[in-house]
Formats: sequence, structure tokens, C-alpha cells
Amino acid sequence: MKVFKFGGASVNSVERIKNVAEILRKFPDEKILVVISAMGKTTNALEKAVNAFYEGGKNEALLFFEKVKQEHLTAAKYLLVSQNLPCEEQLKNFFTEAEWLLHDKPVRDYDYYYDQVVSVGELLSTAIVSAYLNEAGIANKWVDVRDIFRTDDDFRDANIDWEYTSSKVHGSIVPLFNDTNIVLTQGFIGATDENESTTLGREGSDYSAAVFASMLDAESQTIWKDVESVMNADPKQFPDAVPIPELNYNEVIEMAYYGAQVIHPKTIKPLQNKNIPLYVKCFLNPSLPGTVIHNKPVHHLPPIIVLKEKQVMLEMSSTDFSFIGEHHVGHLFHWFEKLHLKPNMTQNGAISFLCVLNDWPEKIDKLTAEASSFLDVQVTKNLTLLTIRHFTREIFEKMTTGKKILLRQQTPETIQLLMKEQDNN
Ligand code: ASP
Ligand code: MG
Repeated sequence: MKVFKFGGASVNSVERIKNVAEILRKFPDEKILVVISAMGKTTNALEKAVNAFYEGGKNEALLFFEKVKQEHLTAAKYLLVSQNLPCEEQLKNFFTEAEWLLHDKPVRDYDYYYDQVVSVGELLSTAIVSAYLNEAGIANKWVDVRDIFRTDDDFRDANIDWEYTSSKVHGSIVPLFNDTNIVLTQGFIGATDENESTTLGREGSDYSAAVFASMLDAESQTIWKDVESVMNADPKQFPDAVPIPELNYNEVIEMAYYGAQVIHPKTIKPLQNKNIPLYVKCFLNPSLPGTVIHNKPVHHLPPIIVLKEKQVMLEMSSTDFSFIGEHHVGHLFHWFEKLHLKPNMTQNGAISFLCVLNDWPEKIDKLTAEASSFLDVQVTKNLTLLTIRHFTREIFEKMTTGKKILLRQQTPETIQLLMKEQDNN
């Protein structure tokens, strides 16, 4: 058994959906569990609908939602002949689920509504792709993953109930493979024991696929992307980025930790536990080798570069020049946890504590206000955090020329630099 995950970009047009069929045709005798994301930018569009709804703009919310509806109905119409009517029925049921809610007034938490509405994106895309594949002669069974993935009610960051979900995977998914080679379902979403939809965090489909791979003891997982493989840097930022053919699980966990937008950070653990290799392949050109991520040690990696922009540095010092102690730092970490803020870098000095965070203005303001009650706080914005793994002198110099370095941390493997663009005047 294999697990395939197709991201939003692989199903963002009629042609791309047809291309998914062409890829699956290359595996006629395989049992494959296929996880598919929402089409293109649907998740962002649905977020807009929820935001408008939550700010009281019901009509605006419905308009945003209408756009998503039309896009999906149009895609279905272009792709389907015999399956168009039944698929439309299915789509309409999902539309109704969301619209029913958008017509109301918000009385619960934002995150609850977010999950009810945003989860629709994956249901719509998978319904269309499944119907198309069946019409194109690639027999498959569509599954509503909310009947399989049981989570807690930590909306927008829900945690999977491993035991319940695993029993569902074995009791309900495995038997489907007796009658079909392909089971097609959603990533990113699940449901609570009260049948409320939940989501697992943005880009969570990679993780869903890994959970399936682990529970099904799959021989491999493949993530089909629009890039040729995992690269040593974001090619949009660094045109001379190079492909990396082979990586170790731990390296990918490190890369994701420092902010490389390669694979959802939670994805690796379930695969690593079962020693299941993860392939990253290009859906535009499946003959390219892509990247394999596995348990073997990998030597001679190129420098791996991660650039995080829009960083803020908070410099906090005691109000009376006394030492910064566990008491202060413990208090700050308590607030990081409470605000769901994850510092990208911290450094402790005698009378000051520095931390670098993504600039999330409301949260930073809240943190600053809290910290100001017991520390002096200075805020510096518009900084860039550069991380280089397997750095060399050459790459270090290339990346830092003309930059003012505010903070630097280094281990034998990794160097991190907080930088400010140098003014010319
Ligand atoms: N559709 C969701 C997102 O865009 C989940 C995913 O694609 O992994 O975040
Ligand atoms: Mg995605």
C-alpha cells in the first residue's frame, strides 16, 4: 500500500485535475490511499468568508462563499459528464452545511466557525476529483475523513485521537481496499466526538497523509508538488537554489523547525516511527527523481538556507538593573504559551532577555503590554532571521555582506543571524 498526497496546486484547474488522473494511471496495480487538498487558493478564500462573517458582514461572507461555490460548480461541469448531477448534489450538500452557519450570528469562538467553514474546501475538491477519476476509468472510493479522523475540540489546531482513529482506519478504510485500488479522501480536517468539523493547522494535509501511512503501515508516502524536489533554499528568494535528492528525517525536522516551507512539521514523526520513506515528487514532471526522505544518514548536504522576514526583536531588561532571573523568564514563557507565540530565537544576558518572534501585531502588542508590567521592553521591527545549516565560510560571507547583524547564535551545524538591512545613508 502507498499513500499519495496531492496539494492545492495540483488540483487548481481542470487540466491539473486531469493530470492527477495521468499520474494515478502509472500505478495500475497498486493499492493507494490518496489525500487531496482544497483546490488552489480555496482555503484562503474560505478564510475571508469566515473573517467577514465573524466581523458581522454576513452578506459579504456569503458573497465570498458564493465565489467558491461557482468555481467548484464550474470545475465539475467542465470535468464531468455522467457524474455531473450526482457530484453537484454532493457539492450542494456541503454548500448548505456552510451557508446554514453563515446565515446565523456568531455566538461561539472564531476558531469554531473557522473550522466549520474552511473544512468545506477539502470536501468539495475531493468530491470533484473522485467523480472525475471514476468517469475516467480510475475506480476509487470517496471517504469523508471526518468519519475516520477523530480529534479533540482544539479548533484550528486539533489533535488526533490516535486510538479511535486507528480503529476506524482498520475497521472502515482497510476493508474498502478489497473492492477498489484507490481510496480518496481529505487531508487537514477531522471531527470531534460531537461531529463538529475540525482542522489540524494550515498545510496540515501532509500530516494527515502521514497519519494514514503510519496507521496503514504503508510502504511509502509521496507528496506531489509543483517543485522538482526539496531544495536547499526557497527558489523564489534564491534563484540559484539546488535540489536535494536525499535527506534524513531529522534534517527535515530541523529544516521545518527553522521555518523552511518544505513539509508540514508534524509530518515526519509518524513516518519516522514506522520507518516509512517519504518521497517528494513533481506532479508536472513525474519522471524527475525528486527527493527521498528516510532514516539513513545523508552526508555532503549543501548549505540549507532559511530566511524569515518580518521578525520583531523584543529586548527586555529589569527596571532596576538587577539580574534577569528564572522568575522573569519563566513568566515570559508562560505568556508565550498563553498567546501561542513561538520565539524563533532567545538569548539571555545579565540584565536583559532578548527574543525574536514573527511579527503578529496583536499578539506582540499584548505580550509587550504584559511584559512592561515588570520589565523595560524595547521593540525593534522589520528584521530578518537567517538560518544556515551546514554553513560554510563562503556562504556566510555571501549572505551577510552589507547587512547589520544584531544577534548571532551558532552550533557546529547551524548558524542563525538576526539582521537589519543596511541603510545607504
Ligand atoms: N488546504 C489546507 C491549506 O491550504 C491544507 C493543506 O493544503 O495542506 O492549508
Ligand atoms: Mg497546501
